[in-house]
Amino acid sequence: MKKFAFMLLLLLFVVVLPGHGQAAAGQNKIFLDGQELNAGQDVPVENVNNSIMVPLRMIAENLGYKVDWNQTSKTIKIEQQGKAIQLIVDQTAASVDGKTVIMSTAPLLRNGTTLVPIRFIGEQFGLTVKWDNTKKVVDLITPPVSEPNIDPEQSNGDGGTVVVPPGEPSSSLSMINGISFNENRFTIAIDGNAEPKVSKISGPDRIIVDLPNATFSDIFGTGQILDPDLNGNLTVTDYPDVSGIRYSLYSTNPYTVRFVIDLNTPKNYSVEVSGDSSKLIVIDLNAQAPGDTSTQPGNSGRKLVVLDAGHGAKDSGAVGVTGKYEKNFNLAVILKAAALLRQENKIDVVLTRSDDTFLELKERAAIANNLGADLFISVHANSSGSAAASGTETYYQRDASKALANVMHKYLVQATGLSNRGVRYGNFHVIRETKMPAVLLEVGYLSNKKDEALLFTEALQNNVAASMVSGIKEYLGIQ
Ligand SMILES: [Zn+2]
Repeated sequence: MKKFAFMLLLLLFVVVLPGHGQAAAGQNKIFLDGQELNAGQDVPVENVNNSIMVPLRMIAENLGYKVDWNQTSKTIKIEQQGKAIQLIVDQTAASVDGKTVIMSTAPLLRNGTTLVPIRFIGEQFGLTVKWDNTKKVVDLITPPVSEPNIDPEQSNGDGGTVVVPPGEPSSSLSMINGISFNENRFTIAIDGNAEPKVSKISGPDRIIVDLPNATFSDIFGTGQILDPDLNGNLTVTDYPDVSGIRYSLYSTNPYTVRFVIDLNTPKNYSVEVSGDSSKLIVIDLNAQAPGDTSTQPGNSGRKLVVLDAGHGAKDSGAVGVTGKYEKNFNLAVILKAAALLRQENKIDVVLTRSDDTFLELKERAAIANNLGADLFISVHANSSGSAAASGTETYYQRDASKALANVMHKYLVQATGLSNRGVRYGNFHVIRETKMPAVLLEVGYLSNKKDEALLFTEALQNNVAASMVSGIKEYLGIQ
């Protein structure tokens, strides 16, 4: 089965649970041009409100800057060759060469170390920054000596530094968290109210998507390349109509992020916007009819369903009596259900994982919460110390999920034909921490020989997937 590019979105959202981002001590590493800083020692890196916070002094000094700390005023001064940066702990406004620059998150003190957003480091020191959430590794790359080739269409006049006039609230800016291109659909995940302005240009053919009052969030750079001038490219393969997608912070006055979809052939498109404060903007190039079928952006009424295949990679989940892994069953069902849901024109579907990948539970919930999903459905298989235990259960944790659980269970029990063990309360993380109706399906018992054999049949998996679609559609009132 084709690997769907929503893994890309996934990668973008795995780091975004505010307040839970502090990784275990000793896990984080920072590399500057491939050299590990403070190798072997604990390096403080935190995720605070989607900002990856990194130690300022360690990085600045390794770049040859002079760093001064004033304990009384909690002020840090950084200087090198006429460049002067001054920032104060707990204040988002910093001074860079006399101009005010607003950071997405205020510097904070951790055990005597000041942490600042990685984006601030990248922009002010001219570095390419990357954060690998899985490996907990920050990569800082200094620019090559020769000037990078900047497409004039993408270059913003002031070299890309995010400079905000003093007093302008940075919170009014929409934050672009990630992008993906999948099945001829270009998807932008964004927090905020920015309305896309989409236009078509020929010679060469391209589609321009401008997002006023928007910029890239820190986590954008964890999934996509973002160079110090806030330009980048999304490589698109396997889609003959599209040669690539470029993006940049096109203007800082007013703030505008521009995406350019480069086409090999003229294409029509439609624009869909779904979600609430966290939105998905979809530029769909699958429009059929010739002529201009572009539509005005607006809430499309489409529903976003997040499907979660339990466990993955090093976490096998339950192991069946003949050694089959729960994680593989869960993924097989989810992929089948996703394929069916993608045929529904009123439903968008996002997977927490679409291959054998490990994800923390909080990351799964964060994906759904950050996308403002309408439903969250997690698929699992059960295990019991009693080999006789057999049957199908559906779990909810919050009252708001009860109705969904009842509908899903009705169809699921029909699909498995196993004994009906009922709709149950279960205090599971993914259905507790999600903010939309959320259920966890325990399709059968892998500790039971008969259940295990059945669960790994194509027919059962197809039936379960179809039952999920039936339940989702009935619950959402979609015909
Ligand atoms: Zn499980």
